[in-house]
Amino acid sequence: MSQPASTPEATQQVCPTCGTAYALDEPRWRCDDASHEPLQLSPGPGLRADDIEPATRSLWRYRKALRLPAAFAVSLGGGGTPLIPLSWSGAGVAAKLDFLSPSGSFKDRGAALVVGHLKRSGVAGVAEDSSGNAGAAYAAFAAATGLSCTIFAPADTSPAKLRQIELYGARLQLVPGNREDTALAARNCGAESGVYGGHNWQPFFIEGCKTIAYEIWEEMGFQAPDAVVVPVGGGANLLGLHVGFEELRAAGSISKVPRLHGVQAAACAPLAAAFAAGSNAVVPVASRPTIAEGIRIVKPPRGTQILAAVRESKGSLLSVEEEEILEAHTRLRRHGVWVEPTSAVALAGLDRLAASGAIDPQKERVVIVLTGHGLKSTGLLPGRR
Ligand SMILES: [Zn+2]
Repeated sequence: MSQPASTPEATQQVCPTCGTAYALDEPRWRCDDASHEPLQLSPGPGLRADDIEPATRSLWRYRKALRLPAAFAVSLGGGGTPLIPLSWSGAGVAAKLDFLSPSGSFKDRGAALVVGHLKRSGVAGVAEDSSGNAGAAYAAFAAATGLSCTIFAPADTSPAKLRQIELYGARLQLVPGNREDTALAARNCGAESGVYGGHNWQPFFIEGCKTIAYEIWEEMGFQAPDAVVVPVGGGANLLGLHVGFEELRAAGSISKVPRLHGVQAAACAPLAAAFAAGSNAVVPVASRPTIAEGIRIVKPPRGTQILAAVRESKGSLLSVEEEEILEAHTRLRRHGVWVEPTSAVALAGLDRLAASGAIDPQKERVVIVLTGHGLKSTGLLPGRR
């Protein structure tokens, strides 16, 4: 974050490893050098309160900080999700209901920007790999913009997510094996499937996800919380928070970036393992089935970037067991909040962070991000179907 902020006109796609810069309107998804790293957009100018378009009731109210021309700013009304008070383990936290989104997950923020970017680049179609939510988000925005869309998904994805993808009109390719097999199939897809727009690779996905930081800042009276806790798999949510809050800090809108805590399911926790080992890079781990299907990523492409962002914020990466996730989900339901089990991972993580003293919810302002709607994954929950 030492580079100077660039104007929207001067923004480029930059490789964090070798520094190679590419034009903003290129539909590429990684660097050409041997590292094949996912690219980042050069630092943005950030936002001040008077930059917000108050009459726009969507994430496009932050248009001034988003590096996509207005002509390609497709909206399905996403953004502006509520931040509600939640009593948790005797303390008050704020829950960001980011599952209240057009296709039912926070992934709509990133999909809006990636699909708009690809439309601007002149491509006819987009291919994406997903464990469900990102596929639904891409399918929705492709439908809205007239791009063809092919979604590669693991064969064991929740049926409601698969139906949603198909019913938006996308072509669905089920891939046997794990999530990595699905990613490989999408990256190697032929031109007939469209340009690869993988949400774990495209820098514009994070450009969209940074709006969650802007919203939290605005909803908290133009202040940053002390800590944010979020489920982490591919890490776009956490990186969006990091970029958004860093931009706000650079613009002088906040004085300090919140500590970012990313929570994984212990059944698949490569980031938590790398953090605990003090490593700067992720080593692929063995994974087991988990009720948190949305974050089962064995080797997140932006692993190095996630580890750096968490350490820079003085946060952490941790993991929780299946029974803790289920227990947190049950307690959330008793509060009337209906999310997919992946989202409950953040609350289970908060319990651990509070117990270890890493977070003091009695004294600190804590935000929990709830990422995916529960109606898509009721089949994952135990009990009568
Ligand atoms: Zn490079």
